[in-house]
Amino acid sequence: MNDPDSSSPPPGLPARRVRVSRAGMANLRLSLDTAALVANWRDLGAACGVATGAAIKADGYGLGAQRIVDALAAAGAGDFFVASWAEAAALTMPPGARLAVLHGVQGGETAAALASTAVPVLNTPAQVAAWRATGRSCDVMVDTGINRLGLTPAEAMSGLLDGIVLDTLHSHLACAETPAHPANERQLTIFRAVVAAVRPARASLAASAGIALGRDFAFDLTRPGIALYGGRGSRPVAIIEARVVQIRTIPAGGSVGYGATWIAARDSRIAIVNLGYADGFAGALGADGIVVIGNVSCPVIGRVSMDLIAVDVTAADAKEGDWVRVNFDLVHAAAATGRSEYELLTGLGHRYAMSP
Ligand SMILES: *Cc1c(COP(=O)(O)O)cnc(C)c1O
Repeated sequence: MNDPDSSSPPPGLPARRVRVSRAGMANLRLSLDTAALVANWRDLGAACGVATGAAIKADGYGLGAQRIVDALAAAGAGDFFVASWAEAAALTMPPGARLAVLHGVQGGETAAALASTAVPVLNTPAQVAAWRATGRSCDVMVDTGINRLGLTPAEAMSGLLDGIVLDTLHSHLACAETPAHPANERQLTIFRAVVAAVRPARASLAASAGIALGRDFAFDLTRPGIALYGGRGSRPVAIIEARVVQIRTIPAGGSVGYGATWIAARDSRIAIVNLGYADGFAGALGADGIVVIGNVSCPVIGRVSMDLIAVDVTAADAKEGDWVRVNFDLVHAAAATGRSEYELLTGLGHRYAMSP
């Protein structure tokens, strides 16, 4: 790709720099329906009646962590979760909002952790020992059966946490998406025992799917992510808009796109729109993708290109330069692509202007 800022000019010629803000250049927008986001958050809180946090790792599942923090903190959310200190450093937390770093303090990260107002979620005995010396508050993860991150229950109950300023004790469910899975009850029983022994200020077990398992799984605080962002049947919050680069007229019998897979059944008007699979609009979505122009639903036709889709706008009033709205319903998209709602959101890519 040509980056005008990185190419040095030939000798004797003045540097030509293109100074345009990224947002000003972008022909793709990813905006957030903050009312829907807040309504999803309230629904999750109402479902179990305890404090509801928000997982905002991976830049808020690709949707923009800062604007999620701002919207949910204004609505009353007090607990946010990122994966790393780099993610924490990129955020400005409003007063009263607490940020926790799920991967804890790894080697070489102590200075960054101490400089941050975020707290670590400690995962290993070594992390616990190192953090105890700082005298600072922390959360701790105990692994009750997912075998991913966290102290073993035996470690957590061995006195290892004595002298630690422990705020929240966490665990994470492996099989919450399958309510009848016996692992859920097994993990619940183990977590209850650890909470009873460690007596943290707060306990937290449930993410989005765990909340649906009922009040027993809620403890003091939940940590939903995907169900805030349109997943698990919640209100869609991501709004994708792109622009019509070109309109073309295709006579009946003409084809469009790679492989000439779409053949016009009648004389057609086709809009070429700057959105492609590099922007998370997976090829499989092309088959029954919908672009909304005005109030008209227009089908995506032919193969999805890296940066472009073609849309049949014969029935719509579309012209070159128009902004159009791309339907990105997660339930539909997951069914069409076989990819998880998580992968679909975090796979949206980096070419969007994050408009409010
Ligand atoms: C990502 C994550 C969450 C949120 O999970 P969802 O399934 O998106 O609700 C909660 N807790 C931990 C530890 C996580 O890693």
